[in-house]
Amino acid sequence: MLKEPKSMDECSFFTRRILDDDGTRLVAWVPKGTNVVNVIYICGKCGKKGEVTQEYKKPITFVCEHCGHKIVVEPIKKFRGRRKKSS
Ligand SMILES: [Zn+2]
Repeated sequence: MLKEPKSMDECSFFTRRILDDDGTRLVAWVPKGTNVVNVIYICGKCGKKGEVTQEYKKPITFVCEHCGHKIVVEPIKKFRGRRKKSS
C-alpha cells in the first residue's frame, strides 16, 4: 500500500486533484531523487480505489486496475477565478 508523503519536502512533484473530465480523485507525487510517480486514485468511472507506481512522464497517464478506464492527469493550466497577487 502506498502512503501519502508526510511532507512536500520529500517530493519533487505533488498534486492532489479531482479531474474535471470524469471526477476521478487522485493524489500523485514523485519522491525526490527518483523518476517514479506514485498515484493513489478513486476511479471516477467505477468508484473503486487503486494505486499505481510507474515511470514519471507528463502527462501522467494510467489505466484503472478495476475497470480499465483510462485516466489522464492533464497539467494544471491557470487557475480559474481568483488570482493571488504575487508579493
Ligand atoms: Zn475504474
